[in-house]
Amino acid sequence: MNPFTYARPATAADAVRMGAAPDTRYLGGGTNLVDLLRETIEHPAALVDVSGLSDAIEERADGSILIGAAVKNTALAEHRAVRTRFPLLSRAIVAGASAQIRNMATVGGNILQRTRCSYFYDEDGARCNKRDPGQGCDAIDGFNRMHAVLGASDACVATHPSDMCVALAALDAVVHLRGANGERRLALNDLHRLPEDHPEFDTVLAPGELITAIELPALAFGANAAYRKVRDRSSYAFALVSVAAVLDVRDGIVHDVRLALGGVAHKPWRAWRAEAALRGRQATEAVFRAAADIELADARPLRDNAFKIALARNAIAATLAGLVHTPGGQA
Ligand SMILES: Cc1cc2nc3c(=O)[nH]c(=O)nc-3n(C[C@H](O)[C@H](O)[C@H](O)COP(=O)(O)OP(=O)(O)OC[C@H]3O[C@@H](n4cnc5c(N)ncnc54)[C@H](O)[C@@H]3O)c2cc1C
Ligand code: SF4
Repeated sequence: MNPFTYARPATAADAVRMGAAPDTRYLGGGTNLVDLLRETIEHPAALVDVSGLSDAIEERADGSILIGAAVKNTALAEHRAVRTRFPLLSRAIVAGASAQIRNMATVGGNILQRTRCSYFYDEDGARCNKRDPGQGCDAIDGFNRMHAVLGASDACVATHPSDMCVALAALDAVVHLRGANGERRLALNDLHRLPEDHPEFDTVLAPGELITAIELPALAFGANAAYRKVRDRSSYAFALVSVAAVLDVRDGIVHDVRLALGGVAHKPWRAWRAEAALRGRQATEAVFRAAADIELADARPLRDNAFKIALARNAIAATLAGLVHTPGGQA
C-alpha cells in the first residue's frame, strides 16, 4: 500500500476544499476503497473521510425523503418511512453484501463503488482499460460470465455492482452534489456512464465533486414494489441479473410502472423502453414478456453470458407478475 495523508473535515465545505487537491479521494465506510488501496489499484496521495458528514434522513412535507450521503446502508434500509413508502430501496439494500458490510457502508460510497470485474482487480496479469486506459480489455475474450449484455463497448464490458443503485434508478432518485463550482443536482440515471471509449470514468462527476445527499421524490404507488436478485449464492454474491420494479395496476391495466435492471450494464439500467410498452396495457404475463423483449432487443451476449438475456427476460416477467398477484411485493 502507498502512503497517504488522512483528514476528517467537520463540514461539506471543508471536505470539498480538501477534495480539490490532486490525487485525493473521499472515504466513506471504506469497504470498497480500502480494498482498492490494498490492491494498489487506487493510490491516492490523500484521503478525506466524509463518513461523519450528513448522516440524517429527513422526511419532507411534499412526500420526498432527503438522505444524507453518510447515512449507513443499514440505517437507510431500516428507516420506517423508507420501509413503508419505498420498500424497494430497503429490499435492494438488504439483498447486497452482508450485515457487517452494510453497517459500515455509506450511501455515497455505495453509489460510487467500483466494478467487481475480476480483471480490473488483477493488477499483476490482466489488461484493463478501466484501470490503465489504452491497455486493452482481457474480459472481452476472457471469462465473462458476470459481464454486461447491454450498453457495453469494445473498450469495456464491466457491470455496475450496486444493488441499492438499481432501486434508486427505478425510484428517480436525485443526487445532490457539491464541488469547487458550487452545488448542483443530477438524476441518478444520469450519474453513471456507459463505458464507450473511456471506461476509466465510471460517472460524469467532476474531480473533487462530493455527493452530499440523495433525494427520493414522492411516489404514490411506491409501496407495491419488489427487488429480485438472481445470483450464484444466497449471500456474498453480486447480481447476475436483478430487477427493481414498482407497479400500479388499476382494473387489470398497468396505470404506471418503474423498472430498472442490475448486473447487465456498466450503469444501473433503467428500463425506459419496457416501461413505455407497459403503460396502458393489460397486466398479464404475456404483456410483461413482450415488454422485456423490447427492453432486451439490443442486448449483445459475450462468450459466457448469453444466459443473462433469457434470465433478465424471465426475471422481469416474474417480478411484475408477482406484483399483480401479491400486491405489496416481495423481498
Ligand atoms: C464481500 C463484499 C460483498 C459485497 N456484496 C455486495 C452486493 O452483493 N451488492 C452490493 O450492492 N454491494 C456489495 N458490496 C459492495 C458494498 O456495497 C460497497 O463496498 C459499499 O457500498 C461501499 O460503500 P463505502 O461507504 O464503504 O464506500 P467507500 O469504500 O468508502 O468508497 C467507495 C467510493 O466512493 C467514493 N465516495 C465515498 N463517499 C463519497 C461521497 N460522499 N462523495 C463522493 N465520493 C464518495 C470513494 O472515494 C470511493 O471511490 C460488497 C462488498 C464486499 C466487500
Ligand atoms: S471489462 Fe472493463 S473493468 Fe473489466 S477488464 Fe475490461 S476494461 Fe477492465
